[in-house]
Parts: sequence; C-alpha cells; structure tokens
Amino acid sequence: MMDYANIEDQYSSGVYAKRDVTIVSGHSATLVDADGKEYIDCVGGQGAANLGHSHPKMVAAIQKQAAVLINCPEMFYNDQRAGYMQALLAAAPEGFERVFLCNSGTESIEAAIKFARAFTGRSGIVAAKRGFHGRTMGALSATWNKKYREPFMPLVPDFSHISFNDVSTLDQEITEDTAAVILEIVQGEGGVYPISAEFLKAVRERCDQAGALLIIDEVQTGFGRTGKLFAIQHFDVQADLLCIAKSMGGGIPMGAVLLGEKLGVLQTGIHGSTFGGNPLACAAALEVLNIINEENLCERAAILGNKFQEQLRAIESPLIREVRGLGLMVGVELKQKVAPYIKKLMEKGVLALPAGLTTLRFLPPLVIEEAQLDQVIRLVAEVLAENES
Ligand code: PLP
Repeated sequence: MMDYANIEDQYSSGVYAKRDVTIVSGHSATLVDADGKEYIDCVGGQGAANLGHSHPKMVAAIQKQAAVLINCPEMFYNDQRAGYMQALLAAAPEGFERVFLCNSGTESIEAAIKFARAFTGRSGIVAAKRGFHGRTMGALSATWNKKYREPFMPLVPDFSHISFNDVSTLDQEITEDTAAVILEIVQGEGGVYPISAEFLKAVRERCDQAGALLIIDEVQTGFGRTGKLFAIQHFDVQADLLCIAKSMGGGIPMGAVLLGEKLGVLQTGIHGSTFGGNPLACAAALEVLNIINEENLCERAAILGNKFQEQLRAIESPLIREVRGLGLMVGVELKQKVAPYIKKLMEKGVLALPAGLTTLRFLPPLVIEEAQLDQVIRLVAEVLAENES
C-alpha cells in the first residue's frame, strides 16, 4: 500500500498538525482508515459534517447537479442559486432579507466586516476574548488567540476585544466609532463556552444605542448543531448580519452572510467572489436544508446532545473540571492538557477535537447513533480512569 502519510508530509505546506491516521472513506458518523479500521467520528469535519459522511441524498444531489452545470458566476442568474436563496431565507430567523454567498467561514466573516464598515461609515470592530473567527487578515483581527495573530502583525486596525459574558465594559467599549460587534453564540475553538442570555441582550441594546451593528458568527454553531437551525434562535435577539459556513454545503465548501432588513440592498461592486453562489454548492446546500427537515436533525441534536452531556457529567473522574455545551456541541474541560487523551481515544476508535489546551471537544455528525455516543462515553471514562492513578 502507498504510504500516504509520508507523501503528504513530503509535499504539504506543513501548516497543519497531523494525526497519524489516513482516512479514506466514511458513512454516516463513521470514518474508515486505509487499513479498514472504523472510527466513531466526533470531529465531524470540524463542524462541516452535520449530516454525516456521504449521505446518499447528498451524493445524489451533487451528482445530479455536476452533470448539469457546476460553475456560473453571479453576473448571471441561475436556477439553483435562486432556489437556494429563497429556501435559505425562508428557513433563517425572521428579519433576514438578503444573502451574500461565498465559500468558507473566514470569507463570510471578511464579507460581514466589510459590509458593516461600508454600511455604518465607521471602522471599529469589537470582538470577544477567546473568540475565533478565521485566519484571513480581517477575520484574524477579530480572533483573540495570540498564537494565531502574532506572526502576522500588524493586523487590520481598529479591532478590540471585550470579555465574553461580562456586561460591565459594554458602555465604554461599544461607542459611536463602532461599526459592529462580532460574537459566537457558543465559542467553539476558544473552549466551548455558551453565551449568556443577559450578555447577548445587553450587547444588542448597547449596539442599538451606539448605532453599531451586531454580527453573529454561526460558522460552527449553524445548521442544527446546537439543537436549533441557528443557535441565535435559542434567544429572543435579532442580529444584523449572520455568518454561516461549514455544514451549510453538506461537505461542499460554502459560506454566506445573511443580511438583516436594516442593511437593505448593498451597493453594487463593493464585494464579490468567483465561486460564490456556484450551482453545485447551491444544489448541495438546498439538499442540506431538505435533509435537516426530513430527518428532524435539529431536534435530534437537542435530544442526543442533552443526553450526551448528562452522561459526561455522570462520569466520576477527578480529572474533569467542567462539561459545557449546547446540543451536540460539547466540551469537557479537564484539569490537564487534553492532547494525550485525544490520542488515546483515537487508538480506541474515537476521533475527537481539542478546544484550547485543556478542553476535549465533540462535534459528532447529528445523524450519530445513540449506541455510538454510548460507546464514546464508555471510552472517555476509560481513558480518564487509566490516567487517574
Ligand atoms: N468562525 C468560527 C466560529 C469558526 O469556528 C471557524 C472555523 O473553525 C471560522 C469562523 C473559520 O471558518 P473556515 O475555516 O471555513 O474559514
């Protein structure tokens, strides 16, 4: 057999920390390596595989559209794009009237930052400590972690960071110079920290007073992950711009910014993307909405997520500091570094993610079977117990 790992190590840029496994196929919430070993997938394509792997309906939708038309820039109208825009806005929280389509999470953040600056004529962007919004220069400027930011200084000017879930500084930090505040509803990469209703409401009120926009980054929380189609739907708060990506295209790269009614129609020419709104991605994304509906995946994420979190809380281990999450976006903060536990879980057949240095993160496909989650619980308890002595 070819040594794929060696080949990648020889030719790839080197920017990714790698795990010692070559994944060659997948079905539902199971991934299979080059030796035929199966894994329960709790990485979930880092949030891009809410529907699981190679869902037969996704495969059919992609194959069908690929044979008709793959590419069509937005200078032309297109049947798939029109159908998708209509369906997405019908499924979105109330108050969103238009959409800009792009190809990734970081692109959706870049677009939202540009739209907020253009709309308000202001430059200030207020983000949150521990927040993660992507790695291109604008999104990186909103991202908090020094590890991602410092090699690329100077970043885009006029970005600042407030403490997440702390209302005490909002009046001084969100001002008449602020174009927008950008927040995640559950901070993902930062450690799986859900937002508090009080903080979100206070930010919205302060944005309204100061004339600033509210951008909500649902790149990781979107498309059913937290038990609602979008995590902001857990709250009675309206965002002005909603950034989405990851599971949006069912595995096909896609991103978007939903525009609240306040924004109106944007000025022609201020932004654009060659691949944005291509018919292949739009056909895939339309099927994603259908499948989420048909298979009740939001409800499934809520029910399975609650049960999974309860079971994790019931693990009696002195190594666990806290279990946090919303739906099937779950973090287990340990009192130790998490990397060795992730490695052990992989050896036992479970793929999981870190969030920060000490939090184990689970983003399983929402189609995961209950028996698979039970097995994950057993193995998490086992790897923790092995290290307690
Ligand atoms: N925003 C959030 C909340 C994310 O979790 C991520 C990626 O993990 C991004 C933005 C960036 O998305 P992408 O990797 O598609 O550029």
